[in-house]
Amino acid sequence: MTEMVRKITLSRAVRTMQDLFPLEYNFYPRSWILPEEFPLFVDEVRMLKDSDPSWKPTFIVKPDGGCQGDGIYLVKDPSDIRLSGSIPARPAVVQEYICKPLLVDKLKFDIRLYVLLKSLEPLEIYIAKDGLSRFCTEPYQEPTLKNLHQVFMHLTNYSLNIHSGNFIHSDDANTGSKRTFSSILCRLSSRGADVKKLWSDIISLVIKTIIALTPELKVYYQSDIPAGKPGPTCFQILGFDILLMKNLKPMLLEVNANPSMRIEHEQELSPGVFENVPSAVDEEVKVAVIRDTLRLVDPHKKKRRDVQCQAPERGPEEPLPASPAALPSLCLKQVFPKYAKQFSYLRLLDRVAALFIRFLGVKGTTKLGPTGFRTFIRNCKLSNSNFSMASVDILYIDITRRWNSMGIDHKESGMCLQAFVEAFFCLAQKKYKSLPLHEQVASLIDFCEYHLAALDEKRLVCGRGVVERRSAVVPCHADGPHLTPAAHSPLLNRMATAGKFADDRNHRYERC
Ligand code: ADP
Repeated sequence: MTEMVRKITLSRAVRTMQDLFPLEYNFYPRSWILPEEFPLFVDEVRMLKDSDPSWKPTFIVKPDGGCQGDGIYLVKDPSDIRLSGSIPARPAVVQEYICKPLLVDKLKFDIRLYVLLKSLEPLEIYIAKDGLSRFCTEPYQEPTLKNLHQVFMHLTNYSLNIHSGNFIHSDDANTGSKRTFSSILCRLSSRGADVKKLWSDIISLVIKTIIALTPELKVYYQSDIPAGKPGPTCFQILGFDILLMKNLKPMLLEVNANPSMRIEHEQELSPGVFENVPSAVDEEVKVAVIRDTLRLVDPHKKKRRDVQCQAPERGPEEPLPASPAALPSLCLKQVFPKYAKQFSYLRLLDRVAALFIRFLGVKGTTKLGPTGFRTFIRNCKLSNSNFSMASVDILYIDITRRWNSMGIDHKESGMCLQAFVEAFFCLAQKKYKSLPLHEQVASLIDFCEYHLAALDEKRLVCGRGVVERRSAVVPCHADGPHLTPAAHSPLLNRMATAGKFADDRNHRYERC
């Protein structure tokens, strides 16, 4: 998980989803990965400026793996990026800076929301009903060359602002430099803002972000935890950092796999003398998150409930055992599978990851070898006179080499999931030219799943045939079982509607 939410990995995962579903994923600022996309960044900014001369952007450069605002800086122009030679000094993400955030008391603030990923398969997500709002300590002004360097104005990190003379510790959730999110909502609601809509936008941002992360998480998960055995189960508390724009649109800044659970803050009692004192605001939010997480994931919960049902009658003076039911109501609200239906169409890459995992072969690997890729192509019947096995090998080598040269994971050789996804998009574009990308990908997934299901059935029939032939002669047809066209109806339906869609996307995968 720590790998998955690093700035570069998260940006890549969200960007792949932006390629498929640009409108649904417009809650993440336009981003480029440095150093490899530096030329692309320069070109795209130039093009955007040419097409709209009134666009005066600011960019924020964030080093990969950094935290607490470490190494972050703002620039007005790509040429201001700190270079070592002609390439940026550290791997980083450069992002469009959100210039018009919502202000409270003239200050910029962000929201830290706690999210429990309770299970990956089936996907279960909970969101804490309250979070923290972390405030800047200098009144906000839109970025200019003069104020770009004022971190107390532009960066909301607690770890930075605590060093400002203006930082206010307060035990009141409505004042100070760290407040509860619910106090902000109350304030917005009293100004007539649609707080219900805001919450529903935040829930959808969280679900969509996790949907972007699950395909790769599943690849890591299967390599560590054997399938089909009652193995260890895992959960994770994630910290989502969200910025509200002036128009109340929530924007994702980042996801933390290891959010701080401290419920104290440092206070300077006298010059140079510090003491840790309890922080009422942190305590109110974080204790509830930890308590509810433990209640939700407790593996003994069911057992204890069973034991309590069977317990002998207690005398009146005997104290009741501490019962989970006696604790205050849950602060964690289930959002998935509760709202699963609305989002199921976005989960295309989970199915691509399932195909990838099927052909990985050796247990414990996360990368696909050339033989696995060839088997995938053959079993899914993707090779034909226009696409020979030699072209398949070239596609494999070309994409794998490029991904491996980005230096993400050198521990294993072979094709990583993102590279497989890129190859899959290429194949989908080749096969279903006239559809928009998500339709192409969905059609290819249906096609592959159909052929694999037919193959599985054929193997099953053949296997059963071998067993049954001992008692009776069961013919095993060389051409396998005959599935009816209805079994493949999603594909047929999609093909029938192919002509209705116009693909106006820029073909990022066209080079294949
Ligand atoms: P870190 O992990 O170092 O805290 P973040 O991505 O959270 O890095 O960024 C630090 C701070 O910078 C955020 O809390 C926010 O105040 C500000 N920030 C980050 N990205 C943007 C952005 N795209 N637009 C405006 N402000 C941003």
